[in-house]
Amino acid sequence: VNRTAGWNFDNSYARLPNVFYSQLPPVPVQEPKAAFLNDKLAAELGLDPEWLHGEEAAAIFAGNALPEGAEPLAQAYAGHQFGGFTKLGDGRAILLGEQLTPDGRRVDIQLKGSGRTPFSRGGDGRAALGPMLREYIISEAMHALGIPTTRSLAVMATGENIRREKPLPGAVLTRVAASHLRVGTFQYALQWGGVDALRELADYAIGRHYPEIDAADQAASRREEAAAGTGAEGRYARFLHGVMERQAALIAQWMLAGFIHGVMNTDNMTISGESIDYGPCAFMDAYDPSTVFSSIDTGGRYAYGNQPPIALWNLTRLAETLVPLLDEDQDRGVEIAQGILGGFERMYLDTWFDGMRAKLGLTGREEEDERLIADLLDLMKAFRADYTNTFVGLTFDAPASGAGEAETAGAARSDADAGATPDERQDAAGNAELDYAGLDEASGGSGSAGAGASAAVRPTSFPGADALLSSGEYRAWRARWEERLIRQGASAAEVRERMLASNPAVIPRNHRVEEALDAAWKEGDYGPMHRLLDALSRPYAHTADQAEYAQPAPDDGDGYRTFCGT
Ligand code: AMP
Ligand code: MG
Ligand code: MG
Repeated sequence: VNRTAGWNFDNSYARLPNVFYSQLPPVPVQEPKAAFLNDKLAAELGLDPEWLHGEEAAAIFAGNALPEGAEPLAQAYAGHQFGGFTKLGDGRAILLGEQLTPDGRRVDIQLKGSGRTPFSRGGDGRAALGPMLREYIISEAMHALGIPTTRSLAVMATGENIRREKPLPGAVLTRVAASHLRVGTFQYALQWGGVDALRELADYAIGRHYPEIDAADQAASRREEAAAGTGAEGRYARFLHGVMERQAALIAQWMLAGFIHGVMNTDNMTISGESIDYGPCAFMDAYDPSTVFSSIDTGGRYAYGNQPPIALWNLTRLAETLVPLLDEDQDRGVEIAQGILGGFERMYLDTWFDGMRAKLGLTGREEEDERLIADLLDLMKAFRADYTNTFVGLTFDAPASGAGEAETAGAARSDADAGATPDERQDAAGNAELDYAGLDEASGGSGSAGAGASAAVRPTSFPGADALLSSGEYRAWRARWEERLIRQGASAAEVRERMLASNPAVIPRNHRVEEALDAAWKEGDYGPMHRLLDALSRPYAHTADQAEYAQPAPDDGDGYRTFCGT
């Protein structure tokens, strides 16, 4: 361990065969200047917070100096981009190495925008300050939402302009990731390294991200029933299954949050299950499955509603690549792959439906749940309702009618609720705050969840969702929701708590992100970005100061366009 800074590198990827990378240092920049630093993440990584703000850190995060123990390299990979297969690789990134953290994790420390590499093709290897700050905001917001993601440790301005349509200030982002192994890394391994390289990569990925597979193997061989690497129970089949499981869960979380990645090429899908590559991504305002923000996605291949089938398409490319490892007999290998992929849809839907149930405060699984959820989404689409604010509205309009509520004022109110106007019901929900606070006190303020729930404040309106929430269609749907909650028998407090923790009050809304970015890189005023990140860092707090971030874009985000490669 470097005692002054806290670096603690152990570079396992650099020990893989040469075919997987090209060793070279980042290209120095003119004048490194810290634009944004992540103190909290630095501390989690074991880096000294004081050092982080010093000159040596600035030089390192700009690519002008190397930390002790770094073995810089550009990773080779390939990928299907909008369906077409291409050889790629880190064209503007350098992996410095893997930091072993105080809590026992191994994470990649990567510079993005760090100059040309052998994989740059026609590109300049550089990145603009605005887009790197944007990745910082979105990735940290995703993390706070509880969605697995790469992180952002630092954004350094380079003091150099880069050439795009017009000159833009350059920047280098330090990205922290469980690893940068992608579906495209496997595609590259088979195509340019052959089956031996593929096996080596798969073994590496299993060791790094799916150690439970080998642990299970050892247990199985102790019981003398190991299927020694072949057959459906083989370790590579389990590996494929594991990647599929994590990606199904990840995409479900994207969908539940209204997140649109925008460029789900196979080189942008990780093996670890983290979200990666925040180029043209954006959050949806009005609910519409056909929503696309990326300027180059003219066919809507990566539209919001297409993300689950595209994930399966990408996993199918991974499965194809792994066939030689699944069985010596190719036909049998294909069969095994198909058998695994056949489970994706149910796996995804189960996770997504459970997430939707949580957003509605539901526990357990009932057959009619799927209809209830689909009907709500249909209503949201018909009303062009704001996705996020509809669920916040529901959270504060949840029927107080559970069995556990018998002796509280909340339950008594539920009868009166039946014929109530929306305003009266909203009053009821508002008044119910008092009961929840009372319940928390009665239970002795048990745990942080209770404390968080009692701090929640009902917004005065639900921008973009009020029309839906006061409609007759919604009232009819709400009656069905109420019946379901009655059957469930949970107390109003339980329902509310579950919903508060599942429905974010704040997401990185496009117009607020743009406003913060403009102030930051055009005016040098990082205040709005700090304030936005503060609100985004506690999306489930539902405190009064967060209301200003709940306003959807004036035009529903309709005209909003995003870009990659800047
Ligand atoms: P992306 O669309 O961000 O997934 O990037 C696709 C590929 O283009 C990756 O191999 C990147 O390294 C490469 N790339 C993107 N921008 C640049 C750039 N300015 N210079 C060189 N390579 C780039
Ligand atoms: Mg990429
Ligand atoms: Mg990108």
